[in-house]
Amino acid sequence: MAYDYDLFVIGAGSGGLAASKRAASYGAKVAIAEGDLVGGTCVIRGCVPKKLMVYASKFSHLYEDAVGYGWSKVESSFDWQKLVTAVDNEVMRLNQLHINFLEKAGVELIKSRATLLDPHTVEVDGRKITADKILIAVGGEAVKPNVPGAEYTVTSRGMFHLQEQPKHLVVIGAGYIAVEFACIMHGLGSQVSLMIRTDRILKGFDDDVRSGIQDAMTQHGINIICNSEAKKFEKVSEGIKITFSEKGKDTESTITADAVLVAIGRAPNLAELGLEKAGVETIFCEDEEMPRLHGYSVNCAITVDEYSRTSQPNIFAVGDCTNRINLTPVAIGEGRAFADTEFGNNSRIFSHQDVASAVFSQPEAASVGISEAEARQKLGDAVKTYRARFRPMFHSFTGADEKVTVKLVVDGNTDRVLGAHMVGENAAEIIQGIAIAVKMGATKKDFDATVGIHPSTAEEFVTLR
Ligand code: NDP
Repeated sequence: MAYDYDLFVIGAGSGGLAASKRAASYGAKVAIAEGDLVGGTCVIRGCVPKKLMVYASKFSHLYEDAVGYGWSKVESSFDWQKLVTAVDNEVMRLNQLHINFLEKAGVELIKSRATLLDPHTVEVDGRKITADKILIAVGGEAVKPNVPGAEYTVTSRGMFHLQEQPKHLVVIGAGYIAVEFACIMHGLGSQVSLMIRTDRILKGFDDDVRSGIQDAMTQHGINIICNSEAKKFEKVSEGIKITFSEKGKDTESTITADAVLVAIGRAPNLAELGLEKAGVETIFCEDEEMPRLHGYSVNCAITVDEYSRTSQPNIFAVGDCTNRINLTPVAIGEGRAFADTEFGNNSRIFSHQDVASAVFSQPEAASVGISEAEARQKLGDAVKTYRARFRPMFHSFTGADEKVTVKLVVDGNTDRVLGAHMVGENAAEIIQGIAIAVKMGATKKDFDATVGIHPSTAEEFVTLR
């Protein structure tokens, strides 16, 4: 049977864009449908605008640090509207850039939402389109807590469009987004409170990374409210009042802020996609208590195999809607591996092992491989750790009590480095290089045989004893 397209991609985010262009490069006839701007979460309302805001927020610290180096005190003021407009303009530029890339690659862009009608048919604006293969790359969206007044809060999407900079921002959550925005807004001059359910941020990261960031945030003046859960949000004349419970306390407490950011996880965008009609199965979380986005919780996902193939053999899915490792470069890698396998005569599986990631907090942190806790669970006492915590040279004159942490987790039986972790300036840039060594299976001996660049922070990774 002749189809309209060889490949129809639903969602023009990182995964969908990468897969569609790669498939088209092999001569496939490809269309991609997107109901929003082109670029997806990362480009439009995630990594890219976030990183620009991280840059903006760092100046306040640098102005203070400069004084120790002989510069006069900087009298500065910050214009929120100017930053938000500049970020928005950049996002629009990138949206257009991605449209141009698609055109150049010969991929047809359909600026509308698509839904599945059957395994080979999608509907777009009332039009039926057929395709031999379909790729679902619809990403996810932040969920809000199941408590009264949650409509008064914003998610990370709303943070880029706040009319005014909040004087006091309460951030709820303990993951990447909560921690990054707490640091950004603190750097830009807002008073920030971070409310977390336990006593530590960034579950899953190495404990030294978690405490390294958390201690620094507290020291910088971010108010971290531990072991607490929001129970109610109310609009009051001073802003938004949050009623919250604290572990071990019988009575509830309140805190009032100008704005509340909730960052408690993201659920896949699977609502009204027609998955059942096309026979695409999902992992569905039955727990009714879980916060949901149009019925789907953070634990829901499209079920896929290692080739990103769904339960319907001609339909594939990549990126956050499959909830494997929810990072842009992973979605891109999954998308390209799919296109190479299905259209490039090069069958391959994308490896999810040793994927490095960074938290763009202040101080920054990055990791590759496994944490000490995870290594001990697997190998027990055979695990060796090497760790240094020190004041970086930059702060010799600033008077700031900043610390860098570098850490290696090593398998004592084989000497192989299982994990590398860092908290400190440029952690992402440093760990990216180290990730190559870890992925290649480098041993501690290989690290030791490497000559350091002096003076640098990164050299600590090759001098750990
Ligand atoms: P995460 O899944 O990273 O973290 C959310 C955390 O919030 C949970 O781990 C949990 O921590 C806490 N939480 C969950 N429910 C509640 C609740 N009801 N009340 C209070 N706290 C709660 O989600 P994010 O939204 O931060 O990020 C979403 C995704 O985006 C991540 O998968 C990440 O990979 C990606 N991302 C990556 C970035 C990067 O690479 N730099 C940056 C931003 C996002 P606990 O259980 O400890 O309470």
